[in-house]
Amino acid sequence: VNEFSLIETYFKRLGNVAKAPFSDSCSVVMPDLGIGDDCALVSVPSDKQLAISADTLVENVHFPADTAPFDIGYKALAVNVSDLAAMGATPAWFTLCVSLNKQSPAWVSAFCDGMAELIRTIPIVLVGGDTTKGPLCISVQVMGLVQPGRALTRSSAMPDDDIYVSGCIGDAAVGLRVVQGTAPTEWEQQMDLQYAVGRLNRPQPRVELGKALCGVAHACIDVSDGLLADLNHILECSAVGAQLNIADVPAVAVLDREAAMSAGDDYELCFTAPVHQREAIRRISEQLQLPITRVGRIQQKPGLIDQYGRTLQPLGYQHF
Ligand code: ADP
Ligand code: MG
Repeated sequence: VNEFSLIETYFKRLGNVAKAPFSDSCSVVMPDLGIGDDCALVSVPSDKQLAISADTLVENVHFPADTAPFDIGYKALAVNVSDLAAMGATPAWFTLCVSLNKQSPAWVSAFCDGMAELIRTIPIVLVGGDTTKGPLCISVQVMGLVQPGRALTRSSAMPDDDIYVSGCIGDAAVGLRVVQGTAPTEWEQQMDLQYAVGRLNRPQPRVELGKALCGVAHACIDVSDGLLADLNHILECSAVGAQLNIADVPAVAVLDREAAMSAGDDYELCFTAPVHQREAIRRISEQLQLPITRVGRIQQKPGLIDQYGRTLQPLGYQHF
């Protein structure tokens, strides 16, 4: 197979989001011109700002070499969409650059099925990309729409803001231990390990939460490298500090909280909001049926401390 038949047979389908199996993806903004020309053409509504983000996944760095192609496709798109969620943006379009090595058409087909699985619940249209030969590497760029001035940036945390985190922290780290075969056997009695693997391979980007938080929250980030490391990005960008109540952090039962707070890949949202928004946030949590836990407080004094005033090291995943 050549690159053109891969594009024709598999990738083009992800650009036809108005058709089955995406037929319930009714809220998509189709491009004016999609896959097939030298460029795609899209119209950004005049009352919207374009939010853009990109993430690359490399074999053996971001996923083990034997990961199912379906899961690789799902996750490559999900981690990108999670960045849109963290800004409060609505996903609109994406591009896909793949470097393929020994991957068969069946592999590419399953990879696209994984992306399609996410698109069924979160509409987003593939508008272009590039297909080359080389070590397995997947690079996705996502574009989303947000009301001008309403995006949730890392730099807008204010002293006395509450700090919140959605969902549960550490599930994906447990899932990684399971797929690596290093999970202690007693974990099996303590939690559903397949659930943890699902959290690792098929993260649910918190798009609806991000949208609901526009105008309610101040700063926001998605937890990709670890709660402490990612919260620390907010603190540095906002030139503030924080006190975290570690006992309140919603962490997976089999890890101690410190370990869970340094574990990545959960793609929950960590955000700050003024105290008067507590009721609004409780309602959002109820409406989305997603736990949202208050875990601390922003303070003027830089640095990250626990409830006893001890310094917390913002450890997390780092490439270099
Ligand atoms: P060019 O030589 O102009 O870069 P290509 O042959 O690389 O064009 O691509 C042809 C068309 O297919 C372009 O519209 C491009 O955006 C699209 N395309 C190529 N690879 C992919 C891919 N992996 N996913 C989506 N669209 C792709
Ligand atoms: Mg090209």
